[in-house]
Formats: sequence, C-alpha cells, structure tokens
Amino acid sequence: MTASIIDGKLIAEQVRGEVAEEVTKLIAAGMPRPGLATVLVGDNPASHVYVKSKRKSCEELGIESYGFELPATATQEQLDSLLVKLNADPKVNGILVQLPLPGHLDEERALSLISIDKDVDGFHPVNVGRLAMKRRDPIFVPCTPAGCIVLLQRSGCKLEGKRAVVLGRSNIVGMPAALLLVRENATVTICHSKTQNLPDVVREADILIAAIGRARFVKGSWVKPGAYVIDVGINQIEDATKKSGHRLVGDVDFDEVKEVAGAITPVPGGVGPMTIAMLMRNVVRAAKAASKK
Ligand code: NDP
Repeated sequence: MTASIIDGKLIAEQVRGEVAEEVTKLIAAGMPRPGLATVLVGDNPASHVYVKSKRKSCEELGIESYGFELPATATQEQLDSLLVKLNADPKVNGILVQLPLPGHLDEERALSLISIDKDVDGFHPVNVGRLAMKRRDPIFVPCTPAGCIVLLQRSGCKLEGKRAVVLGRSNIVGMPAALLLVRENATVTICHSKTQNLPDVVREADILIAAIGRARFVKGSWVKPGAYVIDVGINQIEDATKKSGHRLVGDVDFDEVKEVAGAITPVPGGVGPMTIAMLMRNVVRAAKAASKK
C-alpha cells in the first residue's frame, strides 16, 4: 500500500481563502478590520522569523497586525503592562506572545494575563481547562493541534470511535491534540518518554499524531496498515546533497511509513502551513465575537 499524501499547503490555502473571505464580509458590513498584536521579547532569531511570517500572513489576508518588541532585558512589569494595555485596546482582537520568553520572564503569568477573548493562541489556562472539560467550550484552541484535526477531517478521516495515539504530551501540541481528539469522540492514548512498548501501542492506532521532536523516530513496522498519520515534528538533519548541508524531516520515517499508512502528512508541507492559517482563523473569530458585544 502506498499512502495518499495529505497536502497541508493546499488545505492551509483553503483555510486562508475562507479567512480572507470572512474579512471581506466583515469590512463590507462596516466592521473594523480584524487586528492581531504580536509581542516579541528578546533576540531569538527563530522567534523573529515566526513573528515576521505571522505578520506577513495578516497582511495577505487583510488583517491588521501591530508589532510590539521588547528588549531581552525587559522586566516582567514591562511585559505585564503591555499586555494589560493590549487587552484594553479595541483595535486589537488577538494577542500573540511569541514563545519562548527569555528565561527570567514568567511565561505562565504572561499567558494568564491575556484576556481569554483575545487568546488567539489558545494557551490561556482557562481556555486549556475548558478544552479538557465536558460540556465546556474553549473560546480558542491551540493552532497546531487544531490544524492537525482540520487536516484529518478534510482528508476524509472519520474520527468518531477510532483508536488514536498521540506521541508527545506538551502543552502546545501533544496534550491539546489528544483533548481535541477526545472531543471528536476518538478513543485516545497519549504516549511520552516513559511509555513502554511504544511500537506496540502505536500499532493500535487508526490515527497517529506524532509530536516528539525526534527525527524519523516512528518506523513503518510500527504503523497499522491504512492508518492516518499526522507528523508534527520538525527536525533538522544533516544532508550533504543540499547546498545548506541540512534538511528538515518529521518525527515519522516518511519513506517507510508511506508504504503502510493510508494517508500521511509530509514534512515540510504538512502540519507546518496549517499553524498560521489556524491563527488567522482565530483572529477573525475574535473580531466577529468582539463585534457582537
Ligand atoms: P516538546 O519537547 O515540548 O515535547 C516533546 C514530547 O515528546 C514530550 O511529551 C516528551 O515526553 C515526548 N517524547 C520525547 N521523546 C520521546 C520518546 N523517545 N518517546 C516518546 N515520547 C517522547 O515538543 P513540542 O510538543 O513543542 O514539539 C514536538 C515537535 O513538533 C517538535 O519537532 C517541534 O519542532 C514540532 N512543532 C511543530 C509545529 C508546527 O507548526 N508544525 C509547532 C510546534 C511544534 P515527556 O513529556 O515524557 O518529556
């Protein structure tokens, strides 16, 4: 069997198109342009790249973006007062604090300060708590796991009643992905670094989401024939055939697993493009909710 490839670029483009259409409708109805505030603290080069691409995406879809940069030496008070100011600013519908923050700053405090109505990353403890509770709805859910669910749904995967295995239990990917799968009525097993007999557990999965940060870790012999495989991992490995000397691979051994799985996301071009698309969707949802208040 050769798996069908779940084209994350294509599906992300569809979502982005839907978001752009929503923005056009909002403007036509006389509402203000949705706005995202990005907060970047310090000089982490990867964080600068991520924020730049988020702001570029806003521009492409007709969303205003407001960039705020604080130096690496910023105090907690400076960060807190910026977030309080953004919470009160009606032009700002969503607030994104780019993680990781410099070590001396309290990430949990910062994320908790963001108004839950503007928590477009879905990391506020109240939103996470609601995600975990029956008959409660989070206002926003984290973007990468939400993107995984959309990839599954739009590639024809029925989630209800299926056995799902999530590799990883981080706050930003593994745990919310598992909680979202439960909400979709899948039966979910969460694996982590202390899980025993991992290949045997993975073999039970109709749906596998891998988010551990280990290059090509999941082997073809671990995968149930026909399974849907969503590879969140982004790992850089050496590759002498590339000009840069390296390339990106996922947590799944793509060449092996594509021979067994029913459908699989590539890396790059799978989950990656979905994350920003889902963020944009959340900003527009925030703007619509704000306009109803
Ligand atoms: P973390 O490092 O925060 O979490 C990794 C998780 O994997 C932990 O729960 C850890 O277990 C588990 N783990 C580590 N090694 C093993 C192992 N050998 N067997 C089983 N479980 C293991 O990573 P993130 O969740 O932040 O990211 C995971 C991957 O996803 C990374 O490659 C990251 O780059 C990528 N990523 C991609 C995004 C995208 O947009 N495509 C967005 C975010 C992340 P334990 O809890 O026991 O330590």
